[in-house]
Amino acid sequence: MRTFRQRVWVAALAIACGLTAGGVAGYWLGRNLAVTQSETRLEQYATRIIDEGQRSTAESRKVLAAMNGSSFPMCSDEEISYFGKLVYESKYLKAAGRMHDGKIECSSSLGRAAQSQVQYKADILQRDGTRMYRNLAPFRVGNEVVIAIQQGDSFIVYSPMSLSQVLNPAIELTITDLDAPDYEAGHIAGAPVQAASYLIKDGQFRDKDLLYGTHCSPDGVICASAHVPLKQAVTNNRIQIGGFVALGELAGTLLGLVCAIIYRRKHDFANQLLRAIRKDALRIVYQPIVDLENEQIVEVEALARWTTEDNEPISPDDFIKVAEEKGFVGQITRLVVRHVLRDFGKTLRDRPGFRVNVNIAAADLADPSFLPMLEKALADAKVPASALGIEITESYTARQQVAKETILRLREKGHYVHIDDFGTGYSSLAYLHDLAVDAIKIDKAFTRAIGTDAVTVTILPQILTMADTLGLRVVVEGIETPQQAKYFARADQSIYAQGWLFGRPVPAEDFHRMLEGKKAASERTLPALETVGAIASPVPAA
Ligand code: C2E
Ligand code: MG
Ligand code: MG
Repeated sequence: MRTFRQRVWVAALAIACGLTAGGVAGYWLGRNLAVTQSETRLEQYATRIIDEGQRSTAESRKVLAAMNGSSFPMCSDEEISYFGKLVYESKYLKAAGRMHDGKIECSSSLGRAAQSQVQYKADILQRDGTRMYRNLAPFRVGNEVVIAIQQGDSFIVYSPMSLSQVLNPAIELTITDLDAPDYEAGHIAGAPVQAASYLIKDGQFRDKDLLYGTHCSPDGVICASAHVPLKQAVTNNRIQIGGFVALGELAGTLLGLVCAIIYRRKHDFANQLLRAIRKDALRIVYQPIVDLENEQIVEVEALARWTTEDNEPISPDDFIKVAEEKGFVGQITRLVVRHVLRDFGKTLRDRPGFRVNVNIAAADLADPSFLPMLEKALADAKVPASALGIEITESYTARQQVAKETILRLREKGHYVHIDDFGTGYSSLAYLHDLAVDAIKIDKAFTRAIGTDAVTVTILPQILTMADTLGLRVVVEGIETPQQAKYFARADQSIYAQGWLFGRPVPAEDFHRMLEGKKAASERTLPALETVGAIASPVPAA
């Protein structure tokens, strides 16, 4: 019941975490996308404004050139009606007329009646003499801004309506003329009226709470910058952001669920393993290690086996890893030592020189109760430490100083220490100098490579020579074929070997039968190595 409640809690917690994290991630993603899209839209909008401005400028220049070339008497009826015709044909203009000294002389919309004594001052005077006026009073209707351009004595007034097709009232627009002497004079339209780099160069910008998209004319003189408040960009895209939040929550929930399932399976797996250890339900099998010189069994390796409650055999590589992760691998080591001394106590007492090797984990090396546990178990069984060999995977030993110290103490007690799976981890030969051990067990990957041209084979002679120089015993793992055995048997030094060729891991009683020379079910007859075809020797001929 408690376990069920625990599972529900774990699942609920994982789902809640997934939902929250997914929602937050979805909002973050959706919001960023909305902001980026808004900035792009602003820049596109500014580009449309500049393009339309370019077209209107080109047209106004053409009209002004035609007006300045007029052959009619200045402000005559004919000229006013000619100007009217030009305005009528134009898409962008509202009026055209004559101006002198800042005073309007006549125009297409007001005729000569427009003549007044009011003198207007140009807002912008460009280098080529073109003048720009904002809000020439006679042409203004309501609050709208009217822009007029004067060249020579001719002027045109832009129709505010002409830009209305491209203008979006929801977006603020700032238009700047960079030819003007200062920013204020060059500010044609829109807010804010302050010099800022993001108003006068192409691109997308963010300033405090405003998003900007700016585009300048190809000559770089006129820039349009569109901007909206960041808040507005987010609000406008709330449906899209909401979609992302929902998607994020869905993905987070699924992930949470998957995590809960994986956790549960792992937890169940670990719990089952722990139960098996407590019930002493792990089995130990024993694999012989022979001296290649005479094929006599000289050592034996104890290997743990576990079958789940559903009768599924699990590889020790997998369950040892889980036990390590969950922090109870030490309990497996204790169980193995207990079984080994129970299964082989008498043999070890009666046969000096015979040895059983146990595999230990990194956690054992760091566990202060490990050495006392070994000592007591051996004392209780009246077995000398030299009869219990220790196998430590290469990567553990190189990792920590504490491992080196424990190895030293193991050897002081009389244990025979092997570096297991040699060559797979920190396979530096130099590292062997540093580590005081008795033997190396060359990984089966090297054995498998014999007879191929894999690079691993080429370094085998080097490993053997180095081990010989350092006085280390060599045990070769994974010998499956007579050819592989022959390869090592030819070396100058004495080599031990382990592998299916000499015997698979078997229960203790089968192993004892094998030792006593009786034929065990799993025992096989070894072919004499001399009858096996030659393979290049691992040690180069002198
Ligand atoms: P290991 O210590 O290197 O053990 C040798 C492995 O090679 C064993 O696999 C053995 O069954 C297998 N083997 C032996 N001869 C041959 C052969 O000719 N060909 C092939 N292909 N394989 C061969 P196993 O029993 O599956 O164990 C795997 C690993 O699990 C062991 O590798 C060891 O690292 C770990 N392990 C097993 N039992 C224990 C244990 O009680 N404690 C700890 N800490 N680790 C253990
Ligand atoms: Mg081993
Ligand atoms: Mg090994």
